[in-house]
Amino acid sequence: MFDSLQDRLGSILNGLTGRGALSDKDVSAALREVRRALLEADVSLEVVRGFTDRVREKAVGAEILKSIKPGQMVVKIVHDELVATLGETQVPIDLNAPAPVVVMMVGLQGSGKTTTSGKIAKRLTERQGKKVLMASLDTRRPAAQEQLKVLGEQTGVATLPIIAGQGPVEIAARAEQAGRLGGYDVVILDTAGRTHIDEPLMVEMADIKARTRPHEILLVADSLTGQDAVNLARSFDERVGITGIVLTRVDGDGRGGAALSMRAVTGKPIKLIGVGEKMDALEDFHPSRIADRILG
Ligand code: GDP
Repeated sequence: MFDSLQDRLGSILNGLTGRGALSDKDVSAALREVRRALLEADVSLEVVRGFTDRVREKAVGAEILKSIKPGQMVVKIVHDELVATLGETQVPIDLNAPAPVVVMMVGLQGSGKTTTSGKIAKRLTERQGKKVLMASLDTRRPAAQEQLKVLGEQTGVATLPIIAGQGPVEIAARAEQAGRLGGYDVVILDTAGRTHIDEPLMVEMADIKARTRPHEILLVADSLTGQDAVNLARSFDERVGITGIVLTRVDGDGRGGAALSMRAVTGKPIKLIGVGEKMDALEDFHPSRIADRILG
């Protein structure tokens, strides 16, 4: 496999002891390695450019200290900048609104929306003692509503009774009403996906949003799709307006680049990561852990 970025920067910079400050030339050589490592981690090119510019600004002219090797110094600058770009702190799901708080899950088909709805519902029920109602608005895929019902039974979370023939907006309105009348704290709306972004999907999402006024709109995106995930995040944010991102299949992604790109492009926090198919395979997103992974 590749040498870690730490090793590569060390071999470029660690001979510089005894000099006053990092020169533009030293930093340029190091930044070539940083750029390569980021691209290997599947960070998008536009994000890489802005990122390396900011690292350059901080590194050129930095005093070479006796106590720390120049390579480590640049690694620290890169690490801190990665964490800053990824959002510094962990941002939880915001339930700070009158009950029932509506959480709308959006994303492409197969991204893990239904699974993640179940995981979030389970977590809110078990860890925060919330009374949660889930509803599937996916009337296109015949088995989708049934799939959510089964997940609800497995996790002990209530699901909205299925009424055949209703459209997504009608179901959303019914879910919100059932949430209100039933004394639920949270209503999770699992919307329908498509294989790709298209106009009818965006119109449907906007209609559901207008009808239910969700407090959170979470984009569920597959981390393995790399650049596509970034375009997806941009489109959903521009057209629907998202409040956060859940990155799934992080268990199969050793690189972590999609996280950096999505956060940089939308400015919206990655709140949670999916790390497996099981209902408890959901973790808080920690910027520094992904930064460590990208640094290698
Ligand atoms: P949806 O079409 O967006 O609702 O996607 P599903 O929730 O049906 O998920 C599609 C597939 O991805 C299922 O087989 C899930 O078990 C799987 N899946 C979802 N999230 C994760 C994850 O974080 N890691 C792994 N390995 N698989 C996942």
